[in-house]
Amino acid sequence: MNQLHVFFFPLMAHGHMIPTLEMAKLFTSRGVQTTIIATPGFVKPIENARNSGFNIGIHLMKFPPEKSELPDGITSFDQIFSDGMIPKFTKALELLQEPVEKLLEEFRPDCLVADMFFPWATDAAAKFDIPRLVFHGTSCFSLCTSEHMRIYKPYNNVSSDSEEFVLPNLPHLLKFTRTQVPDFVREEIENDLTKLFTKVKESETRSYGVLVNSFYELEPDYANHYRKFLKRNAWHIGPLLLSNKGGEDDNAQRGNESAIDEHECLEWLNSKQPNSVVYICFGSMATFTAKQLHEIAKGLEISGQKFIWVVREGKDREENENWLPEGFEEKTKDKGLIIKGWAPQLLILQNKAIGAFVTHCGWNSTLEGVCSELPMVTWPVFAEQFFNEKLVTEVLRIGVSVGSKQWKRTACEGIEREAIAMAIRRIMEGEEGAEMRSRAQEYKKKARMAIEEGGSSYNDLSALLQELSAYRLRVTT
Ligand code: UDP
Repeated sequence: MNQLHVFFFPLMAHGHMIPTLEMAKLFTSRGVQTTIIATPGFVKPIENARNSGFNIGIHLMKFPPEKSELPDGITSFDQIFSDGMIPKFTKALELLQEPVEKLLEEFRPDCLVADMFFPWATDAAAKFDIPRLVFHGTSCFSLCTSEHMRIYKPYNNVSSDSEEFVLPNLPHLLKFTRTQVPDFVREEIENDLTKLFTKVKESETRSYGVLVNSFYELEPDYANHYRKFLKRNAWHIGPLLLSNKGGEDDNAQRGNESAIDEHECLEWLNSKQPNSVVYICFGSMATFTAKQLHEIAKGLEISGQKFIWVVREGKDREENENWLPEGFEEKTKDKGLIIKGWAPQLLILQNKAIGAFVTHCGWNSTLEGVCSELPMVTWPVFAEQFFNEKLVTEVLRIGVSVGSKQWKRTACEGIEREAIAMAIRRIMEGEEGAEMRSRAQEYKKKARMAIEEGGSSYNDLSALLQELSAYRLRVTT
């Protein structure tokens, strides 16, 4: 019985569940027995993977758990539209420790890959001598930059919210403003989120290491910095989306049911010239005010470009029916497609007609942009997105910033139509955009090589699996 058995436990949010499933598929294809601890909102995509031949085990976990104050029916973080609900959500995550420990005790896997949002997982696994790996679902670049922000607190040295400061001791000179720093980092008063993030960092340093959905060649300075300067273990094993060779159907059905017929969408795209359509999407969580949605529409109109624009459901959209300028849909019916709800994003990005990606810089979206050879307009809103933006615009130089300054998860606003149109035009029309596209093409090539046998991500995973086997040997002998 030499086969390793790895348990995966993702946060209930699409940006974490999608790469976790891809990770489980990758481990399975490398001969590892895999099991996902899944909450109800995550069962369907796992079943799809099982039906297409991946032998991934499932343990169903009740969510919201017993004694939770979360209303029934909340199965994922992207259903949380008000900040007041966040403490109830994080409390619910804590309540999962006991049932997860029971599973670990019963099945004794060789490793637990648990999301960063479960800081208790390091101790839970240690009780049974199981190494715990952390999955943040982000770049190593943002692990380094966010850690430097937390340690050095450079935002305390400026006299106003708009004054720029440099994040010290990093391989590049990176500037931020105070308003771009997550509120739970710059908040003076301790609250549920600041406490949670202190625990997250502490549990990360005591864990076996972190798994990064990225590849060494994309961020070599930061992969080295994380290991040598911050002295932590990391394995770069991505881009996971490239390891998944499931084809068009798989790419169409990631995460959620699409709000548009995929064939209709592809037909529309296939009728357009290569690199002639802008794709705009802000991930699975961020929401904008009706005023901001209106500005986006106007910005698109001014840019003169063809577009696919994904607009999430959300309080603002529902409460204000008039978020689109009058006659917009009629006026742009040959030029644009608005998807109200979930889009088959990867399928769209990989279509030749797409020429630019306006993104919130969620890590999955950013990586999907890189792997689709796309220059990007960066428009971060919350989480670690302001860090990822700097990677795209200043380190990789494959994107231009729209000028977002305010860290905020819901009801985001503040970017004007002219700024939107200008950033889109810089990419779609100028020489600059072509240069960015060619740099993105180089990164895509490197990404492909990284995951092939003998590539950096392939080798990192081999090294990890060997270490886990050796660890098991030590524990059992
Ligand atoms: N996504 C999608 N359709 C949508 C919105 C998002 O397929 O309409 C996918 C997207 O391709 C990515 C994930 O959901 O894989 C979002 O993760 P990301 O890290 O980019 O952002 P988050 O949603 O966590 O803010």
